[in-house]
Amino acid sequence: MITSQRVLKAAGKHVSRTLLAARSALGAPRHRYCPACRRDVAGFFRYGAEAEWGCLQCGASPRERLMHALLDAGLITLPAGAAILHCAPNEASLVERFRAGAGDYVPADIDPERYSVPGMQRLDLMTMTDEARFDRIYASHVMEHVPDDAVVLRNLLRALKPGGEAWLLVPLWSKPSEDGSLDLSPRERERRFGQWDHVRQYGRDFGDRIAAAGFTVETIDADALPAAQVRRMALADTLFRARRPA
Ligand SMILES: [Zn+2]
Repeated sequence: MITSQRVLKAAGKHVSRTLLAARSALGAPRHRYCPACRRDVAGFFRYGAEAEWGCLQCGASPRERLMHALLDAGLITLPAGAAILHCAPNEASLVERFRAGAGDYVPADIDPERYSVPGMQRLDLMTMTDEARFDRIYASHVMEHVPDDAVVLRNLLRALKPGGEAWLLVPLWSKPSEDGSLDLSPRERERRFGQWDHVRQYGRDFGDRIAAAGFTVETIDADALPAAQVRRMALADTLFRARRPA
């Protein structure tokens, strides 16, 4: 589904990226750092309202950089040999990092053909039946697509080993969460939730929904890290760390 809003956003991103690449080639100081590709960069290109969005070198988004920065700082951890379910694995740097230390790495999506990640599996979060299989589940910008998030959260809880953690990121707005449905037209979903295939928009109360499924929840914002690091890596976004009680 192509809409004028998406085309404009994509065009703006392209212009910003091209200008930044030109400045970088002309020797602009590399005063920013990307923890996804571990390189000093001249800056991050704009995407929509976000002035410092993508890494000029690797394209990493703020949420992708946040995950690396939190792992680097030890605020979240990947146990050696962990069983990891990586939902909708769009972020190549995280595919690499999760796979490297994992004993059982499972990249999965409801539509696995869309990905070039080796070992992709077909997985419908609405009907998954795994029990106590995973140490970590990563699902970034997934929950706003699923038909019933209460069902999916319960399935994720069951799929984790006791003490295991689901790392969830979603688009957030400042208002309370608002649910739509798949019955709405794509245009109506885009108008209400910002993208044609989103069926809801979350607010900070997303944490309450996670807790209602039986998780212990901790909200980790970019500012859990020192301000100088947040600025240098242009970090943003919020991680909901959901732990299955032991
Ligand atoms: Zn990068």
